[in-house]
Amino acid sequence: MGIFTENLTNLVNVHLNMLYFASLKKNYMIDKKHIIDRFISYVTIDTESDPNSDTTPSTEKQWNLAHALVKELTAIGMTDVSIDQNAYIMATLPSNVDHDVPVIGFISHFDTSPDFTGANIKPQIIEKYDGKDIVLNAEKDIVLSPDLFDDLLQYTGQTLITTDGNTLLGADDKAGITEIVSAMEYLIQHPEIKHGEIRIGFTPDEEIGRGAHKFDVEKFGAEWAYTMDGSQIGELEYENFNAAAATVKIKGTIVHPGYAKGKMVNSMYIATEFINSLPLLETPEHTENYQGFFHLASIDGSVEETVLKYIVRDHDKDHFNARKEAMHQLTFDINTQYEREVVTIDIEDQYFNMKEKIEPVMHIVDIAAEAMLAVNIKPLIKPIRGGTDGSQLSYMGLPCPNIFAGGHNFHGRYEYVPVESMIKATEVICKIAELTALRK
Ligand SMILES: [Zn+2]
Repeated sequence: MGIFTENLTNLVNVHLNMLYFASLKKNYMIDKKHIIDRFISYVTIDTESDPNSDTTPSTEKQWNLAHALVKELTAIGMTDVSIDQNAYIMATLPSNVDHDVPVIGFISHFDTSPDFTGANIKPQIIEKYDGKDIVLNAEKDIVLSPDLFDDLLQYTGQTLITTDGNTLLGADDKAGITEIVSAMEYLIQHPEIKHGEIRIGFTPDEEIGRGAHKFDVEKFGAEWAYTMDGSQIGELEYENFNAAAATVKIKGTIVHPGYAKGKMVNSMYIATEFINSLPLLETPEHTENYQGFFHLASIDGSVEETVLKYIVRDHDKDHFNARKEAMHQLTFDINTQYEREVVTIDIEDQYFNMKEKIEPVMHIVDIAAEAMLAVNIKPLIKPIRGGTDGSQLSYMGLPCPNIFAGGHNFHGRYEYVPVESMIKATEVICKIAELTALRK
């Protein structure tokens, strides 16, 4: 690089920095009613997914919203709108600057959890929430109360959308879709806001763990992306569990109980030895934050054979490996004690902590945090005690932190979302687009 171009680059950098800080101050005007209408148009379409189905999408009805979204994306002026044979939707907002800007993406899922029914959702709008109990359903005496859900109190004075007590709401993750579509529409209508190319992706079947499975990272073509699938306002997540599932099989010997002396081996007793040899305080009910656990999910036992199903979770890779090793060692010890192979164990990795893939590109988290600060939100950075589609996508080559979508109490009748949080998430998306274009 010659001296001239070097100076020019410096000048451009100074200019970009000035724009950068100027843009931090600019406010957006997102229309509240428009957000509410859009959100309600999505949640009133039933898209419950089904873990017992082998098809993609797992339920035929997910196509209903998928097709509607394709129409809407085309109508608001997105380009390259596509839907594949598995109902994965992608679309592009072209760059409106002439310098090179990394292509970034925003992703959410349109299915709702099979944990609770998503049919006939009748959203209720609570204006200027007064901080008191919300009667979801007078007839069935179902109340959403700050006594039980004290998060409600941070939203007094705001507009809440709740269920009628009979269904979940589907803010997970139709709030995310509302925010992404609304942000794209806003950027299209405000060409004075400068941004690079933005890709958006909507997936089926996230709630049954398959949202990322058939996601075509190459076709998406983004350098990094964000899932808009977190909960309360401010959430920004780039760490999740490392996860494995273990199946422990214990073989016993069945003999007539009346004549069993010295012959019968009751596999259920050996199973209790196995269970009690693992640290009993390292279970979900005794752990939080960065503490990992062994979780005994089921026991299926008879004298002859007992099967234990565990899940193993830990944020720390070394601790995670040590947990798996401890289970292998315990298996070995019990077999040694019985002088034959009574226990067999099969441990399969499920997903890994995305931190490993995000840390080398930490600026993608920084941009999201700066975007939140720029729209007056305090980023809440905390580890996810679970997995996200973003963690799978990160390992598929698309680093993908998770940002709040605004809802609370997912997967049940007490689910609700403050409209103001959806507006803020929409602003965060616009701001991330803007900051990415200004960043050097
Ligand atoms: Zn979700």
